Amino acid sequence: MPKKYHITAKVTPLNLDYVYKFKIERGENCINCGRCTKVCIYEAHKRGKGDPRKMADPNTVVCRNCFRCIQECPRGALEKSLDKDFLNIGGSYWKSDMFITLWKQAEDGKVPVTGAGYRGPFTGPGFDSMWTDMSEIVRPTRDGIHGREYISTSVELGRKLNHLAFDESGKLLSKIHDTIDIPIPIIFDFPKDNLSPNVKLAIVRAAAELNTCIVLSPDHITADIKKYIKNIIPIISHKEIDRHSALIKTVRMVALDYDEEILSSLPELQDKIKKIHNVLTIVRVPATKSVEQIVSRLAKNGAEIIHVVADYCGMENDGSAGLNRRLAKDIIRAVHLKLVEDRIRDEVTIIFSGGIAMAEHVPKAMLCGADLTAIDLPLLIALGARLYEEPEKLLLFPEGLDKIAVRTVMHRVVNLMGAWHSQLLEVMGAMGIREARRLRGETGRAIFFEEIDNETFGKLFKKRETANV
Ligand code: SF4
Ligand code: SF4
Repeated sequence: MPKKYHITAKVTPLNLDYVYKFKIERGENCINCGRCTKVCIYEAHKRGKGDPRKMADPNTVVCRNCFRCIQECPRGALEKSLDKDFLNIGGSYWKSDMFITLWKQAEDGKVPVTGAGYRGPFTGPGFDSMWTDMSEIVRPTRDGIHGREYISTSVELGRKLNHLAFDESGKLLSKIHDTIDIPIPIIFDFPKDNLSPNVKLAIVRAAAELNTCIVLSPDHITADIKKYIKNIIPIISHKEIDRHSALIKTVRMVALDYDEEILSSLPELQDKIKKIHNVLTIVRVPATKSVEQIVSRLAKNGAEIIHVVADYCGMENDGSAGLNRRLAKDIIRAVHLKLVEDRIRDEVTIIFSGGIAMAEHVPKAMLCGADLTAIDLPLLIALGARLYEEPEKLLLFPEGLDKIAVRTVMHRVVNLMGAWHSQLLEVMGAMGIREARRLRGETGRAIFFEEIDNETFGKLFKKRETANV
């Protein structure tokens, strides 16, 4: 049995200027009795440093919303209220509550306990309209997190053979392609926003620490980042292969930005790259309306790995704000089904990125048909970044982040992935799936709201409509 992949989390709070869901405030009627310092086990209440007779402002950063101090204050001087700034974060896709989850995961690497007393809807657009079949959850042996069962989360990247061919004497005729294994079905997609050098280096180091990869433009590969070159996938234009030949010699994979010329010239481009160095080629394709046709043509032309990139909310990248744009779930299913129809699905690796915001989106994207996912924004949110969708995408970093030690920033990213990895093990354990690669395209183990809604009510409403006519 191969060694178990384990991500070691380390509690790493960032005492920066976060926005929290609730803010805690101390009123004028406080008599500085100090009772709250005793009842709050998280030490949110402390006496003032300069004058210990007076209480310091409460530290919302460490508050866990247990409300104990509020109940026990003899003067009713403490108040918790919803922070309006917090409610404005995100938008229709990146919900404000997601930020709390990601911040918490990045802090301690643990699976957050959610769902108790949940009063919201159980369905929504995109990934929220699909549920996984966790019928194996009742078996006590099905437990990857606590190590009772061996569950592999590793995935293989590269071109695979549909079948093996042998000659009459039984000699293998097929050429076995090179593949690369990574221990989690997640790679990092380098965020384009201007990042401070410590954040850049920390994210690359986190990728190396996790044994995964990061897609990076050659301009970002500075001397300190070069140390992690085996974990870097440089992204270049197919016209710049010669210019980057020295870099290609040092990496394991290279990504090409898609343009129409690649459709016809891919075999030559891949050969050209392989002559420089035996690396795998990824073609990065925007998730447009015709993405499944493009992916199909690339796969038929020998593509090894195709990276389908939706926008940051997991929507089709067609440049319009139209409501008819497909969401991640439907884009991935369309790509997967097209390749199944063409009988080439098993030959090519599909990476999907865009809108992968929460841990559960990883297994859901895989169930829809992706081999693995790529993430960018959650890496920044883990560092306390706030994202606003309206009126246009805006990402704000907490002040002082550029001064935080690389190691601390790296631990936050590693913690985040630790929490996501644990959740993947939980989902797979509950589904009775022991290998992550077996999640791919297993839609029979998922329930899609639109389908059951149509099955249950479709005929009924169709009849009514007909009767009205
Ligand atoms: S318990 Fe209430 S009155 Fe006492 S120090 Fe805390 S806030 Fe002030
Ligand atoms: S609500 Fe709970 S965790 Fe927050 S400050 Fe009060 S006692 Fe501490």
